[in-house]
Amino acid sequence: MPKATIRDVDLKEKRCFCRVDYNVPMKGTEIADDTRIRASLPTVRYLMDKNAKIVLAAHFGRPKGKVVDSLRLDPIAKRLSELIGVEVKKLDDCIGEEVEQEVAAMKPGQVVLLENVRFHPEEEKNEKQFAAKLASLGDIFVNDAFGTAHRAHASTAGVAEFIPAYAGFLMEKEIHALGKLLSAPERPFAAVIGGAKVSDKLGVLESLLDRVDSLLIGGGMANTFLLAQGYSMGKSLIEPDKVDAALGIIKKAKDLGKKLMLPVDLAVAEKPEAGVSVKVVQPGDVPEGMMALDIGPESRKLFSEEISNAKTVFWNGPMGVFEVEAFRGGTLEVAAAIAHIDGFTVVGGGDSLAAVELSGYAGKIKHLSTGGGASLEFLEGKQLPGVKCLVEL
Ligand code: ADP
Ligand code: MG
Repeated sequence: MPKATIRDVDLKEKRCFCRVDYNVPMKGTEIADDTRIRASLPTVRYLMDKNAKIVLAAHFGRPKGKVVDSLRLDPIAKRLSELIGVEVKKLDDCIGEEVEQEVAAMKPGQVVLLENVRFHPEEEKNEKQFAAKLASLGDIFVNDAFGTAHRAHASTAGVAEFIPAYAGFLMEKEIHALGKLLSAPERPFAAVIGGAKVSDKLGVLESLLDRVDSLLIGGGMANTFLLAQGYSMGKSLIEPDKVDAALGIIKKAKDLGKKLMLPVDLAVAEKPEAGVSVKVVQPGDVPEGMMALDIGPESRKLFSEEISNAKTVFWNGPMGVFEVEAFRGGTLEVAAAIAHIDGFTVVGGGDSLAAVELSGYAGKIKHLSTGGGASLEFLEGKQLPGVKCLVEL
């Protein structure tokens, strides 16, 4: 069932309780990357143009239900003001009398930003009374925080029990792009999954096998698969308690006749640091004191060839410890291969997006998903609370 968006509702002079994803990376007290703030601008500007009253809500960092001064949203309000060219008033809380008075005094087209919703423990517990207080600040709920849509929190889903929920444009774009991967992907469909841990992504590996033609596994998570195949992995990051799960996935791929590709060579070193000496070895030859930190050149070639033949590619998780230049090669080659195909390409995940930016190919990817966990759960076919609560058309 299609979900209603802010295009489907009369916004004039309506108070919009608008949940956005402003959990931006910081460098000291400066915003290191404002991509997430920029991603909300189409929605914020549209609401302004329609003369709505815009009450923005967001979380930032992990204050764990307490007021943490360094996690206040003032720098974010400042940057947003600069980007939209009008003052964005940052309030000192997200509920309470003062907030209610400020919102009651708002003029059409005005924008306020509530304080970090996670200063209240009730937010992550999705407590009903807290959600009701947030909801009392809006006539409608606009959800544009796809990155937190997999969490049933008060400001991401709870408020929808009290006021009708509409997708903002970022949310709409994510649902549309990821929905395409679920419903009618052009084939062949290849998924490239990497990153640190199998345990984070078991669910998505399982369900992707039902949908894709080939599954390419790299990064730290490949180590556990190689371990499952009997190779000793030295000091590499491994999850011995996930060996059975890895064997289950290998078997499922075989039963379904799907191609499952693992690295055939590995870049190993003593530790993931600049300046260490790097060797390329085959699985099985990882020296005892060393760790597999990237996929090797032959694997890069095989992965790139597989990607080149695909018409649809989903990628989540770097192929190595890309933060260190010496272990970035596999990730960069995969990024290049994905950028060069003539088909539908989606990359999701915080580190994966950072890696794509580093590669210089970000502009060549059809959809950069702002959701890490959210995009994975969406692809598992799960109903995300922040999506489920939206009004159906
Ligand atoms: P995303 O944020 O895109 O979802 P993840 O958080 O799952 O990706 O994984 C990214 C992390 O995985 C990076 O910090 C990277 O250093 C780490 N990683 C990738 N390959 C390895 C490896 N072989 N050994 C240890 N860590 C790895
Ligand atoms: Mg990550």
